[in-house]
Amino acid sequence: MQLVLESLSKKYKNLLALNDVNCQLTEGIYGLLGPNGAGKSTLMKLLVQNMKPTDGHIFLDGTEIAKMGDDYKKLIGYMPQQQELFPFFTGRRFLNYMGLLKGMNKNELSDAIEAIAKKVNLSDVLDKKVGGYSGGMKQRLLIAQAFLGNPKIVIFDEPTAGLDPKERIHARNLIAENAKDKIILIATHVVQDIEYIASKVILLKTGEIVEIDSPENMQRQLEGKVWELTVDTDKAADYMGKYLVSSAVRYGESTKMRFISEDVPKGNVENVKPDLEDVYLYVFGG
Ligand code: ADP
Repeated sequence: MQLVLESLSKKYKNLLALNDVNCQLTEGIYGLLGPNGAGKSTLMKLLVQNMKPTDGHIFLDGTEIAKMGDDYKKLIGYMPQQQELFPFFTGRRFLNYMGLLKGMNKNELSDAIEAIAKKVNLSDVLDKKVGGYSGGMKQRLLIAQAFLGNPKIVIFDEPTAGLDPKERIHARNLIAENAKDKIILIATHVVQDIEYIASKVILLKTGEIVEIDSPENMQRQLEGKVWELTVDTDKAADYMGKYLVSSAVRYGESTKMRFISEDVPKGNVENVKPDLEDVYLYVFGG
């Protein structure tokens, strides 16, 4: 399976939200990483056909998706940002409703709902009202609806927004566990959401793709530029002004700084292995 984005642009009046985006996606998990306003949601809306591009085309295995109609829609799962849930619906009723919208028939739906609920660990509460669900449970229900009907292309917009750290890990693992043989795209500005599960990362900056590569390769490019140094806490601010600082952890009188510098900084510095957070900082700034 191959999804090809060719010279894709989207304008909102005078604002160019996406500018000549070109890329090819095959089975695997892609992290779409960029700050707020980079154009992530716009790109996803084009992929799920919520909007039409101003310019450019999207092809699935050589056929333009605009010409595929419902055949394309059936292949798509989507978890939009801040999706509203009807509080008086049960989890089962919500999944049923979403399945019917996807064109699934009643018989296949009831089995599919049981199966996906089991996978996201909601079987026990499927007949309870969604209004009583915790934030993590609601998010898992939304992840479940995205996977309902076994879509081949599944798109998540900030899937861990509003979750606590434990729930974030759970949501992330659920996506990874269900990703087999699919193209998965996870848009986020939170590096940890995709750091360990994405095989490729797409860096999007003001509507343009800066880079697409594996996290390992991106990290490799920063080798020799990431440093750690422990300084007196009252000197920490000097480093904040001078370098791109990815973390500063205070231990009373001293502070451990992690920062990016092209040149070897002064002092008792240690050169450390870059991570994806460092890459994000390097590309998008502080
Ligand atoms: P992201 O998802 O990365 O935060 P968006 O795709 O939401 O980015 O937005 C990209 C740019 O397009 C931003 O400058 C945003 O303000 C603008 N934008 C998004 N949606 C609309 C819209 N419906 N009308 C006008 N401008 C929009």
